[in-house]
Amino acid sequence: MQILVVEDEVSLADAIVAILKKEQYFADAVYDGKDGLDYALSGIYDLILLDIMLPKMNGIEVLKELRKQGISTPVMLLTAKSEVDDKIRGLDTGADDYLTKPFNKGELLARIRALTRRKGEIPANEMTYGDITLNQSTYELICGANSVKLGGKEFKIMQMLMYAPKNIISKDEFIEKIWGYDSEAEYNNIEVYVSFLRKKLTAIKSTVQIKASRGIGYYIEG
Ligand code: CA
Repeated sequence: MQILVVEDEVSLADAIVAILKKEQYFADAVYDGKDGLDYALSGIYDLILLDIMLPKMNGIEVLKELRKQGISTPVMLLTAKSEVDDKIRGLDTGADDYLTKPFNKGELLARIRALTRRKGEIPANEMTYGDITLNQSTYELICGANSVKLGGKEFKIMQMLMYAPKNIISKDEFIEKIWGYDSEAEYNNIEVYVSFLRKKLTAIKSTVQIKASRGIGYYIEG
């Protein structure tokens, strides 16, 4: 994780770099907007902390130029309390977050974690476990280049299993959540759907297995 700090207040810039290094991030500091832009354009950074009031080129101009050149690295603006307008302009220009100075170490690190996590995040409509991904909008179960579409009940069973992997889900729980309390569904309904799912897992060459816990229910492992 490589972070660029662009801040003309040298003691602050260096203090931030020291904090980041202590947390095992790689960090570089530059002290004016022009250097900031040059470094940021290298594309090697995972996050840029960008002051707004900077010599040579201000932070908003740097940000504008970066976005114009197709650099989508997350940018967190460092703003003084008096720079509310700039902050809004910055967010409009494509900043991902801002931090008002003075800030404390904990706040800085928490925001950095949130921003860098967001970057590699799995879309909310997908669940993953082992080598499989379940797309919750298309009901597709994917393993590498292979995929298979699940029926409605198969999908719900898979979703419950993947939501709490290694937890045994009882046949009663499946029936309640999928067929409803008052349904006439029998345990062997579940068994039939689980056998369909097992065939589909084999078909997409997944190593994930649906295991039966004798008499109680099912769980996945892989
Ligand atoms: Ca400044």
